[in-house]
Amino acid sequence: MEEVTGAQIIAEALKTQNVEYMFGVVGVPVIEVAMAAQASGIKYIGMRNEQSACYAASAIGYLTGRPAVCLVVSGPGLIHALGGMANANSNCWPVVVIGGSSDRDQETTGAFQEFPQVEACRLYSKFTARPSSLSAIPAVIEKAVRCSIFGRPGASYVDIPGDMVNAKLDPAQVRCVSCCPSPPVSLAPPGDITSAVTLIKNAHRPLLIIGKGAAYARAECVLGELVERCGLPFLPTPMGKGVVPDTHTHCVAAARSRALQGADVIVLFGARLNWMLHFGSAPRFNTHVKIIQVDLCPEEMGNNVRPAAALLGDIRAVTTQILEEFRKAPWSFPQDSEWWVELRQKMAVNAEVSKALALAPSPMLNYYSAFHHICELLPPDCVIVSEGANTMDIGRTMIQQQLPRHRLDAGTFGTMGVGLGFAVAAAMLERDKCPHGNDPSRVVCVEGDSAFGFSGMELETMCRLKLPVLIIIINNNGIYSGVDSQTWKLLEEMGDLTTVAPPVTLLPDCRYDLMMSAFGGRGYLVRTAEELRLSLQESLRDWQQPALINVLIDPASDRKQQDFPWLTRSNL
Ligand code: ADP
Ligand code: MG
Repeated sequence: MEEVTGAQIIAEALKTQNVEYMFGVVGVPVIEVAMAAQASGIKYIGMRNEQSACYAASAIGYLTGRPAVCLVVSGPGLIHALGGMANANSNCWPVVVIGGSSDRDQETTGAFQEFPQVEACRLYSKFTARPSSLSAIPAVIEKAVRCSIFGRPGASYVDIPGDMVNAKLDPAQVRCVSCCPSPPVSLAPPGDITSAVTLIKNAHRPLLIIGKGAAYARAECVLGELVERCGLPFLPTPMGKGVVPDTHTHCVAAARSRALQGADVIVLFGARLNWMLHFGSAPRFNTHVKIIQVDLCPEEMGNNVRPAAALLGDIRAVTTQILEEFRKAPWSFPQDSEWWVELRQKMAVNAEVSKALALAPSPMLNYYSAFHHICELLPPDCVIVSEGANTMDIGRTMIQQQLPRHRLDAGTFGTMGVGLGFAVAAAMLERDKCPHGNDPSRVVCVEGDSAFGFSGMELETMCRLKLPVLIIIINNNGIYSGVDSQTWKLLEEMGDLTTVAPPVTLLPDCRYDLMMSAFGGRGYLVRTAEELRLSLQESLRDWQQPALINVLIDPASDRKQQDFPWLTRSNL
């Protein structure tokens, strides 16, 4: 029988594990791996930087529940991918990174791009290994896939020395391993369910918090039923948005601070009490709040706050258990309760403030007016990718998500530069859902100008693959804020820009739109509401190639006054 190469064994093992997408940057020694993957029917997406490739692969993991592969070369290639692995692990998203490394017989000799890759990856992954031989490759790949999706999802790393890639073996000697199934589903003990239900029924000010763990668990139907059946207010976290639609009458996102502060019983569905939820502590939370934690990770229980009930299990399964109790003994939180009245009043007040900001006449666009027009024209089924400081924060409060897993952003790790990689991944999935040239859903990437810069070269990837992506850059000439072109000229006259220009500033009025047209996509420069609307309508209507709308807003535009700063600090 004809011998098989290491590259072929890797590709076949990945195919057996139902890996459909491989993102990467090829070079010595992994180019044959990418070619073998294609020959096995895996789609290979060549990216322009390993970091973006890893972001893209991890987004596939989150959106589909099965990992994609990020393929990188040795040394610097792998080091660039570490950012993506750290981001995936922080977000609890599955991804499998495969890194080529220098030949085994050159270890410690100062080989080309030699680096202790297996050791380096340990901090950034759940599982890290180098197969001991060609025949062990399928078992290691199965374990990498399994570790990435079983338990709390995360990153896995498989190291492939260059000499293994082209080494050959009689296929009869390859240890075959079957496809790893979906993760086992666990239920919470019935006694814990009863205690949790009693806590909810006795609450005066209950609140459900829906996190991205609930989105990953595909718990939308059961959580929607729980919200409605029990008449409970809910608050989504950024990527929990859309699990139950933001437009649902029970969504209290418009009164977020009040809801967190006032609640006496909170059920956390797949959300951690980390910085994003202000550690669950005062003054953002009621000191006596009782937390019911629903999570599949036992170590998470009690992080920062000791829970009144810890429901260990899969969110969809545990929510079904909770629902069973409420089906047996129906109960609904009174809609005329003080808590609902208070929340509704606060939401109405906040909605007025936001509307006033969006419609306030101003010569230049600002965050609120730009998002007002964008929200009016976005298709309800589009996937939103968003990053940036004000752009992401203000956009999140204004863009309503109707569908689960339709929002990707800087996430738990607060990573800037993820947007374009995420958009490539989401657009691949949307495109592949409509293989016969039907109209795929749009992926709309709403980026701050600084955030865009981290991975801007992926525009070429989007144009090369003709992906259905619309990028909207909310361009304020800087990080947090920038200066206008007249002020910039004054700065130039004052002296060396490296000493006089505020560190937050970027070149004013950058023509990011021309970058898109340079690659064959459509670029628009807009300064007014009318130009913004026209360009949005045009780029969303006749879909031919990716588009980029460069929205120049007032560089002094800021967010409205908040009751609390976004970052909770210790009072040391
Ligand atoms: P968010 O950023 O939305 O607050 P986090 O990423 O902090 O969400 O938290 C997600 C939580 O969901 C993690 O603690 C993770 O262990 C948990 N999780 C992920 N998938 C599941 C699942 N299928 N069932 C239960 N918990 C899950
Ligand atoms: Mg900016």
